[in-house]
Order: sequence, then structure tokens, then C-alpha cells
Amino acid sequence: MKEELENESGKLYGGLEAGGTKFVCVIGTGPDDLRAREKFRTTTPTETLNRAIEFFKKHSYKQQLAAIGIASFGPLDLNTSSSTFGYITSTPKPGWTNTDILRIIKSALNVPVALDTDVNGAALGEYRFGGAKNTDNFIYLTIGTGIGGGAMINGKLVHGLLHPEMGHIRIPHDREKDQFPGLCLYHNDCFEGLASGPAISNRWGKTAQELPDNHPAWELEAHYIALALTTYICTLSPERIILGGGVMERTVMLPLIQDEVQKLLNNYISKPEITKNIDNYIVTPELGKYAGVLGAIALAEEKANYEA
Ligand code: ZN
Repeated sequence: MKEELENESGKLYGGLEAGGTKFVCVIGTGPDDLRAREKFRTTTPTETLNRAIEFFKKHSYKQQLAAIGIASFGPLDLNTSSSTFGYITSTPKPGWTNTDILRIIKSALNVPVALDTDVNGAALGEYRFGGAKNTDNFIYLTIGTGIGGGAMINGKLVHGLLHPEMGHIRIPHDREKDQFPGLCLYHNDCFEGLASGPAISNRWGKTAQELPDNHPAWELEAHYIALALTTYICTLSPERIILGGGVMERTVMLPLIQDEVQKLLNNYISKPEITKNIDNYIVTPELGKYAGVLGAIALAEEKANYEA
């Protein structure tokens, strides 16, 4: 019902998924109504942002956009009282440090602009259009080149001091079983340092794609992911956990993780969602590869409704 009412409002939104390797721009109102889409490589900030601006100008001449949402790689400054609010800050991506992405887009197009992390965007997309509808407390975790997580608590995405950096928690690392030292530049063997896609290929000397389904790599990977998930389950008490990213495209992973989470929790959290129906508790994203841009559309929609 909510969707019908909002579509009746006739508002049109822009969505920008700003990734470290590619940008995706869309115009529309939701998964069944994407009216234009363009994808291009992330190069310099000037070139890439100009291309996004041209896209939105070209596709909004008939109807002014109510808002644009940006789901961006980071880290981002999302503290509204900070002088660098809306900036991509200390990113290792060459040329992008201290890019004022929010204001560049906003001043070129003169529309309200919302900015959040790529993973918070994806979480909001699943909440609005996908597998977390009617779930006010959940976690969205992406496991790929890096590991990032967004947490929705009581229907709001958690921000706080910065934004959650769920990929950098410390997890137990048995150095006898796994001699790989980890590759996080800040912590070596944090969760991301042990379990990101590059960690898998560095540990085994093969890309993840080259490792067969029965390779011990996947069991170890599931173990690390499950360790992190039990920490989030015990601290945030999510009602659902959505796992996205390249590593999760390997279909053997999900059941391995579900089993390992049950084993590690050992019936301590005695809720049927975990003890009986874990298939429905730890899931993969419903929106698939569109989660990012649809998250950006959801950010825009929230912004437009807030400004109205
Ligand atoms: Zn780290």
C-alpha cells in the first residue's frame, strides 16, 4: 500500500551507486520502475562526477527530480555538524581523498541530495524493496574485495561517531590452523584481513574462482564469517542477517555459514529463528546486483519525504 501511495505522488528520484571501480546512475522510483540507467568506470573525481551530473541532467529535463540519493564508497564524513560533512575522506583510492561529493552533485543539479555508505544504501534498499521489508532490526553485510556492514536498528540506520565498520572487528585467529597473517593495512588479522576475497586468494595462492566447492578454503571462510555473525547477533540482536558481495555468490557458502553459526551459538540464543529456521534468518540479498542503486533510490525517497 505504501508503495502505491508514494508512486501516486508522482515523484521521480535519481540514484547514484558510487563504487571504487564503477559508478551506476539510475532514474526511477523502485525496482519495477527504473527509467534510465548508465554504468561507467570510476576514474578521476572530476571526470566521473561530471559524467554522473550529465546523466541526471539529460534524464530529468522533462521532470525535475525530487531528490538524488548517493550510496558511496568511503570512508565518508556523515556528521552533519562537521565542516567536511558529505566528503569522501581518507580513502586509499588515488585522487579521491577529501572529495566533496555531496556538494558537487547538489550544486550542479540544484536538488536535495542524500548521502550514505554503499553498504547502508544496500541495507536501505533491502528494507524498502527487498528481503528486509517489515524487519526493523537487521544487518546487511557485504563480503567481497572488502567487508562492510550496515545495521538497521528500530527502523533507522546506525551512524553514530562515524558509521559502523563491521569488517574490522577482531575475531579469533588460530595461527596453527591458519598461518595466513591477514592483510588489513591497519590490523592485519581483523575480520576483513582474514576473510575478504583478496585474503582468500592470498592465503591459497589461487583466485576464489579457481577454488573448487570442496576446497577447505570455504569451510575456513564460513568459520570466520560465522564468528563475526555471532558477535553481531549477541550485540545487536538482529531479526535477520543479509549477506551479499562476491564471496557469497559461491552457493556452498550460505549453508556452511548457517550450520557454523548454530554450532558456535550452541543453543544459547534459544529462538526458533536461529535454532530451527536459520534458512530464513541468514539470507542473501533479494535485490541482487541492483541492491546498490535501489538503495540510492531509497535514500533519495527518504530525503524527499523528509524535506517535504
Ligand atoms: Zn582491519
